[in-house]
Amino acid sequence: MLYQFSDRLWYTQAEEATDRPVLGYLRGDKLALMIDAGNSARHARQFLALLDHQGLPRPDFVALTHSHWDHCYGLCAVGAQGISCTATRKNLKQDAALVWSDAAMQNYLAQGIVQKFCEEHMRAEYPRLEEIQVELPQLVFEETLTLDLGGRTAVLRRLTNPHTEDGVVVFLPEERALFVGDAAYEELVGADWVDHPDKLAVFADALQKMDFTHCFIGHGAPMTRAELFDWFGQRLG
Ligand SMILES: [Zn+2]
Repeated sequence: MLYQFSDRLWYTQAEEATDRPVLGYLRGDKLALMIDAGNSARHARQFLALLDHQGLPRPDFVALTHSHWDHCYGLCAVGAQGISCTATRKNLKQDAALVWSDAAMQNYLAQGIVQKFCEEHMRAEYPRLEEIQVELPQLVFEETLTLDLGGRTAVLRRLTNPHTEDGVVVFLPEERALFVGDAAYEELVGADWVDHPDKLAVFADALQKMDFTHCFIGHGAPMTRAELFDWFGQRLG
């Protein structure tokens, strides 16, 4: 289901069983942006069908918030230009070189290339692991990139955050909305979720300077600015 936030911004709900994340969609006068590509071709196609159903144009660009599979592996089915920071593309290049099968997955688990948490969700999303296709984003940037979609702007910024090294947030100034992907979450290390208060403090500080009223997080309901900073405050003690 597609939820409408404003006359130009839509988003979906996360799904726990398959780890499908929240996807965003901003419609400019000339161009449209999708935020995160979904976890599979099936997920991406389902999203495109929702747009079609609403009479919304297909996206021209897809901004990737970080390289985790659930946010990127749908890119192959979107038919738009993928955009990421260089670090995300580098990680996805490694994923694209992998062979996906049951036997290979056993190796990846043993070697720690894929975590158990991800494997369970990947198997729920992909009945046949061979269906996994990793497409690389065509457009890359180092620290920040601004997209003028016509009357609407998206500012992509790579920020230090507690979840990954390659996290990018997507700030939509006219909507006063911010998509952070998983950047507000802890890091998955082996089987454990590990918080990094030092990085969280840097992340929270950068977000404080941005003028948004609502924040969209990768696997939960949208939060108001106050709810987001309360959550950060609890973790920072
Ligand atoms: Zn993630």
